[in-house]
Amino acid sequence: MAQEKIGRWIRQEIRSLAAYRVPEADGLVKLDAMENPYPWPEPMREPWLQALRRVDLNRYPDPEARVLKARLREYLQLPQGGGLLLGNGSDELIQLIMMTVAGPHKKVLYPAPSFAMYGLISRTIGLEPFGVPLQADDFGLDLDAMLAAIEEHQPAVVFIAYPNNPTGNLYARRDVKQVIRASPGLVVIDEAYFAFSQDTFMQELGHNEDLLVLRTLSKVGLAGLRVGMLAGSVSWLEQINKVRLPYNLNNLSQVSADFMLAHAEVLEEQVHQIRAERDRLYKELQALDGIKVWPSETNFLLLRVTDADRLFSALKANNILVKDLNGSHPLLSDCLRVTVGTPNENQMLLDALHRLISR
Ligand SMILES: *Cc1c(COP(=O)(O)O)cnc(C)c1O
Repeated sequence: MAQEKIGRWIRQEIRSLAAYRVPEADGLVKLDAMENPYPWPEPMREPWLQALRRVDLNRYPDPEARVLKARLREYLQLPQGGGLLLGNGSDELIQLIMMTVAGPHKKVLYPAPSFAMYGLISRTIGLEPFGVPLQADDFGLDLDAMLAAIEEHQPAVVFIAYPNNPTGNLYARRDVKQVIRASPGLVVIDEAYFAFSQDTFMQELGHNEDLLVLRTLSKVGLAGLRVGMLAGSVSWLEQINKVRLPYNLNNLSQVSADFMLAHAEVLEEQVHQIRAERDRLYKELQALDGIKVWPSETNFLLLRVTDADRLFSALKANNILVKDLNGSHPLLSDCLRVTVGTPNENQMLLDALHRLISR
């Protein structure tokens, strides 16, 4: 009997988990996953395909991704002497960091609510996750609570999403610095939304050996490539690199990312448009009765409505997919997260909200 053996051989933490669910989005306006809504422009597709044609798929990829790394050092403005590790998305790098420090009774700490993967990956690896509640009104860092929790739990790693997902805000820089100073182990600043916030801890790497900065190409427009970057001291990255599988970044992604970053201005222009649309959407949503919307330094907006589950379903019935956060954390009751789309998609969202809320 499979059930019997599963009970015997699979530990309780795994059995009690629910797999991360990605909803079907066929035919829907997809405003649920912080993707850039703009595809790679048509005139650039042919030269990109030319680059891909030269890839030998019979060969393993370069395990050190040297060409792409050289490009990224410049793109990320990595400080002199800083180390760089690449992952199959930053999700994989989060997993690698955790696997590297894992052990009995080891803990991972982060402000909560935050990126779901911090908790999920911790549990799959046998680390104890600990979320310290944010301030209820503006989702700012509760510094006293953070410092007390760090003192009590002695976490091996602290994750700070900066700006935070799903709340969209940047924490006060001096609070983050205090957390860094107080932490007994590693601190990872997850800057997945750097392109939208333009605020970074990258320059701090030179002054703090126990700090790592995590970035991704996903939110700027290359989610399908799965390329994440981890910057920090060579000493820590050397350890984490031992846990990485040698060919984690495939040939096609390495070549595509290198090609696209050689034309980074295309992505920057798209990001610029998304930011302008975010600000317009924010204002329009603010004007709607029955919706509270928080300011955002990202490419999504967090809303509180009267009945999030009902509105989520009603939007879906209108072919619009957003993220329902109700029930995911006490501070997110009746909250929805909407990714900024094209002007047309955002207008469809606004029109649907007008119809649905005024009833
Ligand atoms: C989206 C997101 C990631 C994951 O990005 P990938 O590189 O696509 O795996 C990591 N951290 C935060 C905070 C995110 O919102």
